[in-house]
Amino acid sequence: MNNKENNSYQPDWTPEEHGDEFAIRIVKGVDSIPIAPKNRVFRKKEYTNDELVQGVLQNQRNLLAKTITLIESTSVVHQEKAKEILNRLLPHSGNSLRIGISGVPGAGKSTLIEALGGYLIDMGHKVAVLTIDPSSSISKGSILGDKTRMENLSKNPHCFIRPSPSSGTLGGVARKTRESVTVCEAAGYDIILIETVGVGQSEITVRSMVDFFLLVLISGGGDELQGMKKGVMEICDAILINKADGENKKKALTAKAEYSAALHYLYPATEGWESIACTASALTGDGIPELWGEIEKFSNITRESGVFEKRRRTQNVEWVEFMIKDFLYDSFFQNEVIGEQFTQMKEKLMNGQILPSIAFDQLKETYISKR
Ligand code: GDP
Repeated sequence: MNNKENNSYQPDWTPEEHGDEFAIRIVKGVDSIPIAPKNRVFRKKEYTNDELVQGVLQNQRNLLAKTITLIESTSVVHQEKAKEILNRLLPHSGNSLRIGISGVPGAGKSTLIEALGGYLIDMGHKVAVLTIDPSSSISKGSILGDKTRMENLSKNPHCFIRPSPSSGTLGGVARKTRESVTVCEAAGYDIILIETVGVGQSEITVRSMVDFFLLVLISGGGDELQGMKKGVMEICDAILINKADGENKKKALTAKAEYSAALHYLYPATEGWESIACTASALTGDGIPELWGEIEKFSNITRESGVFEKRRRTQNVEWVEFMIKDFLYDSFFQNEVIGEQFTQMKEKLMNGQILPSIAFDQLKETYISKR
């Protein structure tokens, strides 16, 4: 039997004298397949400044994220673009409560942010979560970002979460986060949570960019205040003893009493507000409404007294001072001669062969003469 006779399909080619076993359909190939030229580069869409500004103001999340990416970029072109956009967003920013949250890894910060953020969104707020990860500048790794964090919150359309910029000095990272605050506020987020890990300098940096600073602790039993740095207690508006649930609840309440007593004798971090200690369970949600009640009370008191506004103005000045310090530090060590001179000096300094102040004078002279 001939395939051609029984089948309405006509192959383009068949072997001569083929039988029923020939079941393959053969069609003519095409002469050439159009392929993209090798040197063709597929570019991502470049948004104009207008598109980005409008996108942020309308809270289009992809454009909000793109604007923050521009802020974080080290390219000079991107930075110029970011500056112009920020300038245009500035009049739309400021209308928020900025809250800093710090604590050692494992204290329960992300669980707390998940619980508090969810609670605030249920009350009609829009929450942005930014993080300052000091480890990225020290170890090039991340303390905050290595695990899946705030899973529910990250899916919520009323929440925007942005992890810490992944490289740069603490000062550089902080500057980018500050600018991201402006962008998030312009997009309508009225609660900004800035999270950091407690390693001293990063807490002071976050304090300088928030209205309210919360320290998250867990009760460890025994003398709670031991090992607790007085400096950190002096900059916080509230200490939250987390994980106050199950068997831990009693210990947490004891810790709360101890911290309350200690805070009472410290100079307050915010004029007109005595820093408080409270307990909560981020896991069960117990104590979260009470914590928010205290933060709201703080906000009302400081806004009424003018302390809120005064702090924000002072923070703007401090911000510029930070940037100057950063710039000078970089400019000092980017000088190659100084780099070499300092390397040679280090050994002498460690062996006590040169006075630190004399070493500094010599470096300063080199800096001034080689500028
Ligand atoms: P972070 O490193 O400070 O962000 O801490 P996490 O939020 O990741 O929490 C560290 C661990 O503590 C996780 O296993 C949490 O489930 C647990 N945890 C957090 N908050 C609570 C709490 O209120 N009670 C209890 N029992 N566990 C908690």
